[in-house]
Amino acid sequence: MDSESFRACGKTVIDYLADYMDNIRDRPVLSTVKPGYLYEMVPSEAPVKGEHWKTVIADFEKVVMPGVTHWNSPQFHAFFPTGNSYPAIIGDILSNGIGCVGFSWITSPACTELEVQVMNWLGKILDLPREFLNESEGPGGGVIQGSASEATFVCLLTAKDRTTKRIKALNPTMTDGEIKAKLVAYTSDQSNSSVEKAGLLGSMPMRMLKADISGRMTGAILAEAIAEDVAKGLIPCYVVATLGTTGTCAFDCLEELGPICNKNDIWLHVDAAYAGAAFVLPEYRYLMAGVQYADSFDVNLHKWLLVNFDCSALWVKNATHLVDAFNVDRVYLKHSYQSQDPQVPDYRHWQISLGRRFRSLKMWFVLKMYGVEGLQAHIKKQIHLADMFGKLVNQDPRFEVVTVTMGLVCFRLKGDNVWTKNLYERLMASGQIYLVTANVRSRLVIRFVVCSRLTEEVDVQFAWNEICTQADLVDSERD
Ligand code: PLP
Repeated sequence: MDSESFRACGKTVIDYLADYMDNIRDRPVLSTVKPGYLYEMVPSEAPVKGEHWKTVIADFEKVVMPGVTHWNSPQFHAFFPTGNSYPAIIGDILSNGIGCVGFSWITSPACTELEVQVMNWLGKILDLPREFLNESEGPGGGVIQGSASEATFVCLLTAKDRTTKRIKALNPTMTDGEIKAKLVAYTSDQSNSSVEKAGLLGSMPMRMLKADISGRMTGAILAEAIAEDVAKGLIPCYVVATLGTTGTCAFDCLEELGPICNKNDIWLHVDAAYAGAAFVLPEYRYLMAGVQYADSFDVNLHKWLLVNFDCSALWVKNATHLVDAFNVDRVYLKHSYQSQDPQVPDYRHWQISLGRRFRSLKMWFVLKMYGVEGLQAHIKKQIHLADMFGKLVNQDPRFEVVTVTMGLVCFRLKGDNVWTKNLYERLMASGQIYLVTANVRSRLVIRFVVCSRLTEEVDVQFAWNEICTQADLVDSERD
């Protein structure tokens, strides 16, 4: 492809995407293809001669689009939102075009310094304690990870290294292996699957503590587990607290967990992957009370903050722990400006991979073009739409609303789980809207999340009408 074709193809693709967004309601949210559909359409060998871009674009519509689940559809209410906005797409296009790999400051100073700066911007927008920012006196700072899963894992490995060194200093005769075999991590049974996976990947038992009746991990629950393990000779190392659990958007009691972690030298990581975005609004910040005790805090911009996947913002209070844990040097990686100064970080020490993309560009475009007010308006609107849905459900005596928290409503048909299951299966078979279920204290609930930035009141009403239509069919079976 030469630059003229690139111009023509690029303009076609931008027009395609603008039309896609404008007309997204015309596409069914759920794909109707069957497993293996694509293998029948795409040959098993790559073409020997290159094809014209117009052929590839035509194939894209024919082969790819039928198999796409439309995460940006206003009829998508499953999981949590996937961030999307035009400014983010533009930022990503520029990042791909420039294609620099900013693993150290010298490999692209703008890549590093823009990341430092936008992470400071966002930290201030969320009102995080100053120690997390890269402009504070201390060794804190922010870094963009690919996902909340990576952030949890990176912090687990860092905690492991920090604790091993601390215990070794106290017990010089113990080997690293002996110490590591005793380390243990804690989270609640409501935390995201990625937290359990971090324990598996990092070879540290992750105890999934039973949450309280409101889905929260409390100080008493954690303290009891720690006491049990200490009595067995184990070494508590890492706690993951969730602000906004995936099932019901419950908030762990950071104010209680924090002092326990700090007293016991346990790394406290806060997973606020979804709900952290709501802290752009001062009225929700009471839900992060106790954040000052945390060692690390993560929020996904690629969920509720309008930045396309992947962009997970991780702040740590002391970045030297990351650098100490992950610093592997080679002569070809050295440069004359490298230092231990977190304000000029070599971000390769803050993550798993060596290479990294210029992800701060899309974040910068979004923060600049929406501004704080734009982000606040977005979150406010989505919460309003979820509240509207909650009210609709509440007005129907067949249903019960189990929780309404931020953009998430958990609801069910009254009575045995079997009826909610029946309703859910009908909704999935009809394919008009996409939802997923969760278990709340043995009760099956359907989760309704306002996911797309394109969702309007009319879409919420559409979803509710569809739920009522399917509930009528369940009723006819019940009678
Ligand atoms: N933490 C929470 C609370 C989540 O809800 C999710 C995903 O929904 C994750 C972590 C995982 O996010 P990611 O896909 O960025 O790893």
